[in-house]
Amino acid sequence: MPEPVPQDLKAPEPEHCPGPQSEDAGKGDACTGCANKEICESLPKGPDPDIPLINERLKDIKHKILVLSGKGGVGKSTFTSMLSWALAADEDVEVGAMDLDICGPSLPRMLGAQGETVHSSNSGWTPVYVADNLGMMSIGFMLPDEDSAIIWRGAKKNGLIKQFLKDVDWGHLDYLVVDTPPGTSDEHISVNSFLKGSGIDGALIVTTPQEVALLDVRKEIDFCRKAGIRVLGIVENMSGFVCPGCHGESQIFKATTGGGEALSKELGVPFLGSVPLDPRIGRACDNGESFLDLYPDSPATTAILDVVDKLLEAVDAE
Ligand code: SF4
Repeated sequence: MPEPVPQDLKAPEPEHCPGPQSEDAGKGDACTGCANKEICESLPKGPDPDIPLINERLKDIKHKILVLSGKGGVGKSTFTSMLSWALAADEDVEVGAMDLDICGPSLPRMLGAQGETVHSSNSGWTPVYVADNLGMMSIGFMLPDEDSAIIWRGAKKNGLIKQFLKDVDWGHLDYLVVDTPPGTSDEHISVNSFLKGSGIDGALIVTTPQEVALLDVRKEIDFCRKAGIRVLGIVENMSGFVCPGCHGESQIFKATTGGGEALSKELGVPFLGSVPLDPRIGRACDNGESFLDLYPDSPATTAILDVVDKLLEAVDAE
């Protein structure tokens, strides 16, 4: 892969750099004191020429669903993988799963595509098919090594994300599920701004019941509102524990303030349901298998399928 953003800068971009090719180049808070300020101020500005290319690339995809979380560790990628398997359970539905979590791409492992070689042709990079009607592609496949994105700064990460969005050849899909970076980091903001023009149906927000996670959900919903992204609903993950022996359910992360459901009501966004933690989910994800197929009788499977039904109702209600 070529360097994503060729630049002629004096020094590396600092943290929170708005991007030397962005409208705010040379004018952002991070630009004060940056050695590149003069160069960036003089670079030509205007509408991002890559956005129409991204829109063209994604134009044959009927529905695009972003999966967001206010913070890491709430099971966003796990839920993305289960949502992808659930949608692909209907063999007449074409599904794609896109992993844009540049600093922690985990969908290849969860969908059983770890170590796959990605093929490219004249029309772009071909997704890896993990089932006849389920293709996946991870930005992790494009990193020179696992740690590289962690040491990269803003503009370089953004360049790679853009390149990925422009180059992957999804073809026709009914649903594209997009696993995004957690929180409201620079990459997170970029991902949403690059994809917004392609017609996103909305965002599903994954959280856990604890207040510390819910605080970040408030920020995430605020972010979606400011960015003009519809919130399709909140799903509360790990909201109870399913004993693998007796299949009984108990509360482990007790909500102190009413959990995701109360927050949904307060903020006026749909609550899609609660999914209990079943230790077998982690095992199925580690092995790249569909938990839903392996354990159809688990209360977690019932809860996930219920959330997916409600999510699709919200998508169709647009
Ligand atoms: S590299 Fe350019 S856009 Fe980035 S912080 Fe420095 S002056 Fe601003």
